Amino acid sequence: MKRLSVVGGLVVVAGLGGWVLFGPIPPIPRVTSPTIVDRNGVVLYEPLGSRGERGAWVADVPPNVARATVAAEDRRFESHIGVDPIAIARAAAHDVRRGALVEGGSTITQQVAKQLLESDNRGAIAKLHEAIVALRLERRYTKRAILAMYVNLVPYGNQIRGIGRASRVYFGVAPQELTVAQAAFLAALPQRPGSFAHAMKRQRYVLAQMHASAEAKKERLRFDKGERTVIAQHFIEHVGTGSTPSYIRTTLDAKLQRTVQGIIAAHRDDLLRHGAHSVAVAVLNNATGDWLAWEGSGDYFGTNFGGAIDGVTALRQPGSALKPFTYAVAFERGFSPATILPDVPASFPTAEDGVVYTPRNYDGAYRGPLRARAALAGSENVPAVALLAKVAPPSLLRLLRNAGFSDLDKAADYYGLGVTLGDAEVRLEQLVAAYSVFARGGTYIEPRSVLSGAPAPSPARRLLSQRTAFWITDILSDSAAREFIFGRGGSLDFPFPVAVKTGTSQAYRDNWTVGYTRDVTVGVWVGNFDRTELHHSSGITGAGPIFHDVMMAAAIPRDTILDPPPNVERAPICALSGLRPSTSCPNVEQEWIATEAPVTFCSWHHPDGVAWPAEYRAWAKTATNVPQESGNRQPATGNFRVTNPPDGATYLIDPTLRKPYQTLRLRAVSDTRVTWHVDQHKLGVAERDTFLEWPLAPGSHTITATDNLGQQQSVRIFVK
Ligand SMILES: [Zn+2]
Repeated sequence: MKRLSVVGGLVVVAGLGGWVLFGPIPPIPRVTSPTIVDRNGVVLYEPLGSRGERGAWVADVPPNVARATVAAEDRRFESHIGVDPIAIARAAAHDVRRGALVEGGSTITQQVAKQLLESDNRGAIAKLHEAIVALRLERRYTKRAILAMYVNLVPYGNQIRGIGRASRVYFGVAPQELTVAQAAFLAALPQRPGSFAHAMKRQRYVLAQMHASAEAKKERLRFDKGERTVIAQHFIEHVGTGSTPSYIRTTLDAKLQRTVQGIIAAHRDDLLRHGAHSVAVAVLNNATGDWLAWEGSGDYFGTNFGGAIDGVTALRQPGSALKPFTYAVAFERGFSPATILPDVPASFPTAEDGVVYTPRNYDGAYRGPLRARAALAGSENVPAVALLAKVAPPSLLRLLRNAGFSDLDKAADYYGLGVTLGDAEVRLEQLVAAYSVFARGGTYIEPRSVLSGAPAPSPARRLLSQRTAFWITDILSDSAAREFIFGRGGSLDFPFPVAVKTGTSQAYRDNWTVGYTRDVTVGVWVGNFDRTELHHSSGITGAGPIFHDVMMAAAIPRDTILDPPPNVERAPICALSGLRPSTSCPNVEQEWIATEAPVTFCSWHHPDGVAWPAEYRAWAKTATNVPQESGNRQPATGNFRVTNPPDGATYLIDPTLRKPYQTLRLRAVSDTRVTWHVDQHKLGVAERDTFLEWPLAPGSHTITATDNLGQQQSVRIFVK
């Protein structure tokens, strides 16, 4: 019996010993936080990890960190078996002297066990459990591996867990680059992670324990100021990091994003003069739908004006920026850039009985018959409303919703005709995605923010014919067509074709410029999140200059945006009626006409004057500078003149542009081909209604145009 119980006791002890040594170890968490990078792998942001703290797993403990950690926490680390009886005895004696069981005696291995058990319990049972797990860790892992677990798992203050992030945050270096003095400071932190002062004091003790050199003891710690530029904070929030993998490759182009932020900073004073505190900019790659730049306010950390609000996704009134979509609907239904629209006083019925809607142009003027090209390019309100009344608001709303304006979810009656003037609220991201439909030749693709793990770009959906997209693009990139309203040489003009539209909401609260080249679509919003009005801001003075600079940075200069589709042809039209010119039409222009359109000759012009259609008669009587009903006919020839460059103009050579784009277009209105001379040297011959390009050269120049009838005109220009 006695022998049996001894054997039994031995079995129990052996079993218990086996359980202690071979029992389970809690899983070792790899605290790696998701890292968000741009399309080229540039780090945008390293957000909080799954435990709510920043972390980055370090596989190998650098020598300085190892020495400092052992000196700070566990001097007999290399020799003990996971628990250190000497340390426990010493701590106990110390605690007894202080009359309290405070802390201490824990080896590095026990502290790893404590982190793995994630227990805040400081009781004896918890301590025993930690000791058992420590013994198991020692049996299963090398000392080096256990030390690595320690430096990766313990807190270093400031919500930082692990030496990988701690060394970056405190000193701006990788762990292997830490000096002895820096490593000693970090090793001193985990004991009381919240106390910087305690760590500063304890660092001296750790250095002494390390037997550090005099040089290391003299080193003054220089802490990283943490002034690293935050790139694309709004975009990162848009991408979101909730249940995402540890490495997220986004569509953003960090270089372009930084450039955009620099451009906004450069325009800051000008914006403040306009009473604008916030700017949103978004740049989309047309081919892929990738967001390349995304800035929501221009000042994420600015607290006075809602800098953390993302203006790219904020709902705002777009003003005229929606007008091209009304014209697109009309072009799909047989209208063309040559169609004449009435810019005359008019009222339109609304959904409410007896209530009429009377749109006005910004300058209060009426311009009579306007070709759709001029009406859209000059952004006149009255013809746009008249056009929408003809094509009906439901079809416009259908196009807008298909193009991504998901917030326009009410019935057409709710919005009325004002939707074409931008009364309903939209988001900048939607505006940019919708404009890219034109750039793509009529198809919509869903924009995307993430590349890694994301499916291929969504299939393109055709919303508009190629011809409609081409017409809209040709009009929005026609700086001559908008000249009567916007002038020339401002921020809407580029040395390569750019289709561009501006918008200003009611009471000047929002100011927009949106546009595109073949490759990119750029949208800019300027305003205040609290809807404070802007001063004297229009599409040109507010968002326009920022749009210009962003486009110059983002675009690849090309000769065209879209190529003309096979179902259009260049044909002469009467400038007034938009119809094919008769021999009586004084001004003839070239327009892209639908090849299948019937040829109708101008019936307005007659040898003795203009026969105004009924709806323009009242306007023509009061308007100045228009031919009246009888006589007053302009001669068909003799209108030869140089239209570009203007006489006396000064041009500046832009040092940031490549040579091929530093050119000046020479244009003339002429009935024949034109021969161009610059300073007596023949440059070449331009066919009728075409232009020549002359590379800008510094100095004063005389430019002379000669037509086939021998008529000649010269202008002088200056190039600096
Ligand atoms: Zn005519």
